[in-house]
Amino acid sequence: MNTRIETSSAEKLIFKCGKCGEVHSFDKKELTLDFEFIESSEREMGNENTYEATECFQCNNEGCDNEINISFRVWEYPVGTRNYHEVEIEDGELLTCFDFSVEFLSPESDDFDDENYIDEEL
Ligand SMILES: [Zn+2]
Repeated sequence: MNTRIETSSAEKLIFKCGKCGEVHSFDKKELTLDFEFIESSEREMGNENTYEATECFQCNNEGCDNEINISFRVWEYPVGTRNYHEVEIEDGELLTCFDFSVEFLSPESDDFDDENYIDEEL
């Protein structure tokens, strides 16, 4: 089952196991979201970049070994501005998610990984 919800400014991630219904809750500070640049597409005001971080949780309810995968995505558009973000959950139901952001890398930055940069004009 896939569920999508818009995130709020809450400080917790709360979701329900899709198998046993157990509710799991994590503080924002318990999680380190490791965002990776995944794609870029050209739009009117320049590139729109997508970043994604995924977390896998194993349900610890007795007799349940369901794995719940949560994907956090952020879109940067125009460059340097967080346009919107989205959370997608697999094998569970998302109840609440904290607000999250990502430090954007610009093509001029030394940290920017050219190999991951997709320039559609090439
Ligand atoms: Zn479960």
